[in-house]
Amino acid sequence: MGGEGLMRVLTVNNSADSAFLRRQSVDFDKAEMGNGVFARLAERMVATVTDPSQDGVGIAGPQVGLSRRVVAVQRFDKEGKPFEVYPNIRIKPLTDEMLPGGEGCLSVPGYRGQVMRYTDIEISYLSPETLETVTENISGFTAVIFQHECDHLEGILYVDRCDAQPSSR
Ligand code: ZN
Repeated sequence: MGGEGLMRVLTVNNSADSAFLRRQSVDFDKAEMGNGVFARLAERMVATVTDPSQDGVGIAGPQVGLSRRVVAVQRFDKEGKPFEVYPNIRIKPLTDEMLPGGEGCLSVPGYRGQVMRYTDIEISYLSPETLETVTENISGFTAVIFQHECDHLEGILYVDRCDAQPSSR
């Protein structure tokens, strides 16, 4: 394959990238869903996050140079653990309960940290097929990934929420 369709992942090691990662993302128009451009973007985001050079469990628009509300998340709560892509996503907590868990980020290479995240959330997003808003309740590790990726859409990095430490990976 030779990396066909892969996107460059922005990292905090580059000052221009670092500034871009702090931008607020904006929604897609419904008109942008039907013309194949979004489908191609979704394919490329999943190809990028699953490439052995990245090997992540999620990626957000700003990380591939796009200030748009879109995330790709590996659904560990579904059979086969598929990656799915969500435009115009928003999340809200369904509980006050938070738990700590280890996180890293493709845009912060070489670090990990313990972050507090809600255990149960509701996601809402625009279905690219029906153009309707879909809501779904998510819990556990998959909910952690959604919270991490949606932070990117607000210009927030997980290192803002914890003391990240250099890791061996
Ligand atoms: Zn990240």
